[in-house]
Amino acid sequence: MHPLYPNLLSPLKIGKTTLKNRAIMGSMHTGLEEKRGGFERLAAFYSERAAGGIGLMVTGGFSPNFRGQLKPFAASMSRLSHSKKHRIITDAVHREDGKILLQILHAGRYGYQPFVVAPSGIKSPISPFKPSALSEGGIERTIEQFVNAAVLASKAGYDGVEIMGSEGYLINQFLVARTNQRTDQWALSEAERFATGIVKRSRAKVGGDFIIMYRLSMLDLIDDGSDWATVVQLAKAIETAGADIINTGIGWHEARIPTIATSVPRGAFSWVTQRMMGEVNIPLVTSNRVNTPEIAESILADGCADLVSMARPLLADPDFILKAEQQRSDEINTCIACNQACLDHTFNNQIASCLLNPRACHETQLTISKAIQPKKLAVIGAGPAGLSCAITAAQRGHSVTLYETSPEIGGQFKLASKIPGKEEFLESLRYYTTMLKKEGVKVKLNTTATPDHLGKHQYDHIIMATGVVGRTPQIPGIDHPMVLSYRQALNRSQNIGPRIAIIGAGGIGFDVAEFLCHKEHSYTLNRDKWLDYWGIDKALNHPGGLTKPHFEPNGKQIYLLQRKSSKPGSKLGKTTGWIHRSSLKREGVNFISGVDYQKIDDQGLHFKADGKTQLLKVDNIVICAGQLSNRHLYEDLKSTSHQIDIIGGASLATELDAKWAIDQGTRLAASL
Ligand code: FAD
Ligand code: NAP
Ligand code: SF4
Repeated sequence: MHPLYPNLLSPLKIGKTTLKNRAIMGSMHTGLEEKRGGFERLAAFYSERAAGGIGLMVTGGFSPNFRGQLKPFAASMSRLSHSKKHRIITDAVHREDGKILLQILHAGRYGYQPFVVAPSGIKSPISPFKPSALSEGGIERTIEQFVNAAVLASKAGYDGVEIMGSEGYLINQFLVARTNQRTDQWALSEAERFATGIVKRSRAKVGGDFIIMYRLSMLDLIDDGSDWATVVQLAKAIETAGADIINTGIGWHEARIPTIATSVPRGAFSWVTQRMMGEVNIPLVTSNRVNTPEIAESILADGCADLVSMARPLLADPDFILKAEQQRSDEINTCIACNQACLDHTFNNQIASCLLNPRACHETQLTISKAIQPKKLAVIGAGPAGLSCAITAAQRGHSVTLYETSPEIGGQFKLASKIPGKEEFLESLRYYTTMLKKEGVKVKLNTTATPDHLGKHQYDHIIMATGVVGRTPQIPGIDHPMVLSYRQALNRSQNIGPRIAIIGAGGIGFDVAEFLCHKEHSYTLNRDKWLDYWGIDKALNHPGGLTKPHFEPNGKQIYLLQRKSSKPGSKLGKTTGWIHRSSLKREGVNFISGVDYQKIDDQGLHFKADGKTQLLKVDNIVICAGQLSNRHLYEDLKSTSHQIDIIGGASLATELDAKWAIDQGTRLAASL
């Protein structure tokens, strides 16, 4: 029995297959599934994670036919030729003693392509294509195509399949009135047969030793979703049909409730799976915002589930389980649930990766090998760019000294961790602190690197990662005492009045607004308050699990301004921007676009908008007007004989974010 994680690291027998532990890497579409040469890269991706000890993995979704594809030419498993291509993946995983399931996913009306089908011809709010209603013959054929995909998966060497029955995809669409208005033998009252038919007929074809996991939508989070009694009834029917495991699905994609973003509390939905425990006799998997071995262990120890599914945490760190086993969990690069390089990439048709681990899905291309000739390096600045560069370079055997002006590491990332809902960013700072020590980086805090200083130490190479400073816009009265930088506001260096104008509605402007709204009551650290805030029905009395949101008014008057006339926050993350916009809206924040700033004086902020001069009578104004590169040291050194590279915000301040900074730092270190 493991001394720290006895539940998480205990094996589980499923039929004739023994899983090494209770951790599953949930399905993630990486974009490699459709890319030329992508299967070789997928083989490296999955085998690295199998070597890292995860008990079971699930691939991204493969469609059982072309109408079920998520987009044109998306990955399918419908022909023998498809099946043969997967051998490279299953062989690579089995060589590492891993286990892997193929996920079969029919998108139904969520398909982003013109041939979409659904139970009824009702368009979804997230695809421009109206589906055709499946004929009765079409439904029969679709069931057989699911079965065919399971058989092909077995031929490809998979240990089993996951049948995707949640998140609002086709199977789910049969199960609720909003998407199934049929009156024939597939009407709502009979629709369970679509899901059970797939499981039953697949089981008949693949035999008893092949794992069938079914992903069940336990909480739809949409109006008129399934009620709890129906969900339980379906779970029982799925068990009877022959499934070995039931995985938890939370929320349809069209739901307007966050389910995996960083502001969702850890393990926020494990209570839903817990309600299902005992209703069926097969193991249950819980999921959503499980990102540390500690939270996984406590969920299992509390009897909320038999297994936990963690998808993104395995992108961030392929050795998650190995490190837990070896009691090195402080070395885990913890997923901060930002979605910036994984889901946002997927939705932008880019290859998925990880903000914290740029090697994810690029394993064959970004290798961190021992340096042939170790060098003496100085890295200036301990923000994300400098930290990732220093650690990677030290891992390669270079001797690294890291200089940081302030008493702590983290740079702007440290400030980010002060935002309610971004507390997870502190985990990255914990990881970097541990790794700097482990890799023997000499860290000089409270030390501003100067040309003199660097000259004395004769470094072979200097890496400038001096980051950014906030821009001060040229508005008359900008020196007024009511004006604060975002740094001052976040460090609470002064009292901030209840009436506040924020100049700049970019990523930091939104975050500062969130900070000012919530500073007395952060919902994200209290699961029950968070559930109330978003109107999630803890009692499971309402169909779909939605009830009236409940939260305390913040008592502030906050204005978020920008010069552009576009929608504020339009550049925020594709999969998370709506959460920030919706949260600030319900907090009563006023968005003002098309602003021409005039002056600041004792009365407040004067500006023109819609051709009118206006005054905001505010107590404070917080500046969030973008960034400028901090290049003083670089300018002083660039004409000297030092070999210098410049990375992160110091090299480019516009379009900068931590994803770019970490990617650049890691790649530079890999090349030195
Ligand atoms: P910085 O983080 O600016 O680090 C530079 C470091 O260099 C600083 O610590 C500085 O003290 C040090 N330094 C400078 N000169 C010297 C010198 N001469 N000697 C020694 N040390 C020196 N990004 C995202 O991707 N996602 C987010 O959700 C996100 N949220 C954010 C929220 C807030 C509130 C803020 C402020 C930023 C956020 N960011 C986010 C932006 C992200 O933090 C920055 O893009 C990132 O930190 C830039 O990294 P960097 O290493 O280039 O520079
Ligand atoms: P940003 O997102 O580019 O926003 C800068 C804001 O300042 C804009 O609203 C801009 O709007 C305004 N502005 C620019 N020049 C101005 C001027 N001279 N006077 C007045 N206003 C001006 O930059 P940021 O907010 O500083 O964020 C820095 C980086 O961190 C960004 O790349 C961002 O992606 C990243 N970040 C990401 C997140 C996240 O959740 N993913 C959160 C925080 C930060 P107008 O020009 O229209 O006025
Ligand atoms: Fe997690 Fe962000 Fe990495 Fe995605 S990009 S895996 S959410 S840390």
